[in-house]
Amino acid sequence: MNKDKTTVSLTNLHCIGPELLSLCRKTDCFNTRNVLEVIALLSGLKKVMRLVVDNKSHDLIVNKLSAFNLYAVRSHWNMKTSFRTSLGDVYTELTDQNDPESSSFVIMVSPKDKTAKEARALEDSSGKKGEIEKLFGYPLCCFRSYRNICKNRDWLEELLNNTKIKEFYPWCANRIAYLFNENSMFFDYFPCSLECDNTAAISRKMQELAPVYGLVSVCKKWIQEMCRPVLIRKGVVVQLREFNFNDQNGHLNFNPQKIALYGWKVAADADKDFTWGSDSIKRIGKELHFFKNGKSTGYFIEEINDNRLLVFKEIL
Ligand SMILES: [Zn+2]
Repeated sequence: MNKDKTTVSLTNLHCIGPELLSLCRKTDCFNTRNVLEVIALLSGLKKVMRLVVDNKSHDLIVNKLSAFNLYAVRSHWNMKTSFRTSLGDVYTELTDQNDPESSSFVIMVSPKDKTAKEARALEDSSGKKGEIEKLFGYPLCCFRSYRNICKNRDWLEELLNNTKIKEFYPWCANRIAYLFNENSMFFDYFPCSLECDNTAAISRKMQELAPVYGLVSVCKKWIQEMCRPVLIRKGVVVQLREFNFNDQNGHLNFNPQKIALYGWKVAADADKDFTWGSDSIKRIGKELHFFKNGKSTGYFIEEINDNRLLVFKEIL
């Protein structure tokens, strides 16, 4: 018998998405980005998925994935925290399986047992740069940019620095959205910029696959989340949840009662800022002007790293 033979019936593909979503609800070690990654594995869009699991979640996840003819191999190492960034992301380092400080470890998941083992060997040997990321289906541009991320430079700073100031951005690489909702249409990696074409291609492909795998309504919701405008002001990341963009007068109107805040690099005087009471923003050249009930509340000059407005649109 061919060990790698796929036996999932094509007619049942639309059940796979909902089954994976139910796995997300059972364990924190499997998230909605991983749901899309499994779909990508089954559709040949990527070869290997890397998951960090613990003893408790391992069997649950591996049993579910094996029902879809996916193989999982366990890393020879455990993992422990190396450092945390100001965004709360935890970066890890490898440690011995008997290290009492660590309980989590990596599994490599693939439709082919051989490929999963190849990925494990590559991670063990820290192989040729970029080889393992290719198996994961991560764009090379994003992998290169990821190497700039360190304790003093988190992914948001890297992303903003690589994204020129514009009036609109495509929604497809908006990783900022998952600071608020933890969902996105691309895999679990850091896009190099909001205009990364390779990430956009992944998001669009996943959008195409959504109906095949029974994920239409959740994907619609995730795309809506990725389309919400983001204001970054004095180190606070603000997601505008109820908004409309007036094409005629260029005003972005929003409901100040329906905003979500994420403390990133919060400035000492951030709470007193005029922007909080506003309900509308208009871009005039390099300036962002704020209004409340049609009356000006103030303005600032847009910058790359902070004090910035990101409006997302369907851009093809
Ligand atoms: Zn990229």
